[in-house]
Amino acid sequence: MVARVIPVDQFDLVIFGATGDLARRKILPGLYRRWREGQIPEGAAIIGAARTEMTREVFRSQVNDALQEFVPASELDAAIVTGFLNIIEYVTVDAKGDDGWDALGALMREETVRAFYFSVAPALFGELAQRLHLRGIADRNARIVVEKPFGKDLASARALNASLAAYFHEDQIYRIDHYLGKETVQNLMAVRFANILFEPLWNAQFVDHVQITVAETVGVGGRGEYYDNSGAMRDMVQNHLMQLLCLIAMEPPHCFEPDAMRDEKLKVIRALDPLPPSDLVRGQYRGGAGGDDYLAQSGNPDSRTESFIAMKLHVSNWRWKGTPFYLRTGKRLRARVSEIAITFKEPPHSIFGESNQWRENVLVIRLQPDEGMDLRVMIKEPGPGGMRLKDVALDMSFAEALGNDLDIPDAYERLIMDVIRGNQTLFMRGDEVEAAWAWVDPVIEAWETRGDRPEPYEPGSTGPEGALMLMHKDGRRWREIR
Ligand code: NAP
Repeated sequence: MVARVIPVDQFDLVIFGATGDLARRKILPGLYRRWREGQIPEGAAIIGAARTEMTREVFRSQVNDALQEFVPASELDAAIVTGFLNIIEYVTVDAKGDDGWDALGALMREETVRAFYFSVAPALFGELAQRLHLRGIADRNARIVVEKPFGKDLASARALNASLAAYFHEDQIYRIDHYLGKETVQNLMAVRFANILFEPLWNAQFVDHVQITVAETVGVGGRGEYYDNSGAMRDMVQNHLMQLLCLIAMEPPHCFEPDAMRDEKLKVIRALDPLPPSDLVRGQYRGGAGGDDYLAQSGNPDSRTESFIAMKLHVSNWRWKGTPFYLRTGKRLRARVSEIAITFKEPPHSIFGESNQWRENVLVIRLQPDEGMDLRVMIKEPGPGGMRLKDVALDMSFAEALGNDLDIPDAYERLIMDVIRGNQTLFMRGDEVEAAWAWVDPVIEAWETRGDRPEPYEPGSTGPEGALMLMHKDGRRWREIR
């Protein structure tokens, strides 16, 4: 089955920071794939913007290089690439200066959706918003897309929100969290709210606990200095993991509309209990061969920044009181895995006797490497010899279920098309981001005041010992990272 592609309306998309890493690796390849699928109309314009002076032709050739590098060869077709390059323009613009804006304005068409992707450092967001507005380039229908990090604490997030709100309405601001663009995350909504099966069980009475894992194999690499000012809590938990937690824990919205969804997610963040130190473990990968060591890579021999974090959260509301949510994320771990696992409680009574070991029902939502879901259920082991139980996975791999030629758009592709369509459902609202920081800030302040040092863990392991203990002391275990 081939996915149905609905073309979007005419648009002009300006990518500020078009020569940067994110534009080359994700945004431009993503747009190419949507072009290839026929979703981008002929006549749409993609306008690269950055300070570097170059002609349109030179920029097109750089885009071509990026496509050759980051799009699989099987998806590269010379004629399609040429068609795509033909809709690409370039202007030299300095976010902080006055040059180039007239040229940009002149490239843009009237009566067309205008979208501006701020793929630049957040320190430039306010300047860009201001100039787009004052130069009359962004009208009331224009959209701006902003990247993470959205602040480093509540105060800076508020300041960023205010700098955008001075020139744009909230319904024009698209704060990207690419985890929300993943197919499985949206499928989670479908599983929860389009089936009668799960929702009655989706509460503290039937759910023993929830685990959310985002494990990376890479270290901080060349981003060491940047990362050292951030750490896993700011870089991953405040945005991605908390968004996933919200989607699991939220009440059913009355409709699948942006504000209905975002209102419910916000309530979850506000219902989070403060985090006691005993429910938090921070780690740093240390002592690997060949300089595979956080302190060496961050360039800060006394760094107390965590490259790993695990925590137990409680959502204090009627639905979840008593069901812990365990979150962990880290770098230089054994495998690259992102998943959510919902572990259900034991049946109240077993009719099969003690010899049959009971295993929990677990619904696993895999975000990577292969997006899909599986549900572990108990069945009878086939064959004679009485009733022996066995737990098996009811696997719902999308590729298998829907056909191997299914083209699942990358999260960035989907999200950019949503911007053009004007659909904010999968984007974070300003108050959500602020509420997340309001929960995170005191946790960070507390460990800084205590002077906590992260616990060392071996590169390529599953994280520090303390993280295992966080679960063991509750009589539970993390799912394997493999
Ligand atoms: P990058 O590689 O450093 O690129 C920055 C881009 O901004 C370049 O195109 C640069 O081009 C342009 N730029 C810098 N100063 C400018 C100015 N004053 N006016 C106009 N353009 C300017 O950064 P990146 O990695 O692409 O990241 C971009 C944004 O995405 C950042 O906010 C980052 O935190 C976020 N992000 C990146 C990733 C990723 O994987 N890279 C992931 C998530 C979020 P010129 O020097 O020619 O001006």
